[in-house]
Amino acid sequence: MKRKKSKTTKKALKASAAKLRRKALKLWTEIVRRSGDNKCAVCNVVHGTLNHNGKPRFINAHHIEDKCNYSTRWDTKNGVALCASCHQFHNPSSAHRSPVWFLDWLEKNRPGTISYILVARNLHPHTALGWTLEDLIKLVDDLEKQRAALPQNTTEAPTEGADLADSAESESDPQSSADDCSSSPPQSQQS
Ligand SMILES: [Zn+2]
Repeated sequence: MKRKKSKTTKKALKASAAKLRRKALKLWTEIVRRSGDNKCAVCNVVHGTLNHNGKPRFINAHHIEDKCNYSTRWDTKNGVALCASCHQFHNPSSAHRSPVWFLDWLEKNRPGTISYILVARNLHPHTALGWTLEDLIKLVDDLEKQRAALPQNTTEAPTEGADLADSAESESDPQSSADDCSSSPPQSQQS
């Protein structure tokens, strides 16, 4: 009986942690977009502007250090608001297609960001499982405070129909210890 109970508790804690991780990512995305006034930091396209096909363009929140490094996954200084084109699609100049081009852009437009991230990327646990429930509760609390401090006139851009990745990213089955970044074994977290 006792063993069963502790198993259930463990499961519930795991589910809560996954919920908090998702909530943190949602808050991170909102803060990054709103801090950038819901427009692309590179080309200044505003959220909702129609493209040449008459479809609205969406602003994504881009992770500078890959989101699979949990140390900076929810760090809002590790995010830039980008349109889908500057984020992923434009060839050769988009953050995902040319990381070197994007690093150069960062150096010119966000001085200090790279050196900040080089430190921050090792400050916290690298994997999802390294974050305790207490860590996650504090993190969500901090992010909520950051969101509350944003100017009132910036509202969250609707995500419906967003054509892209970072804005719609999610973690997999909350019951599972795995998530979208768990392809490498836990012992490789120092790599
Ligand atoms: Zn753009």
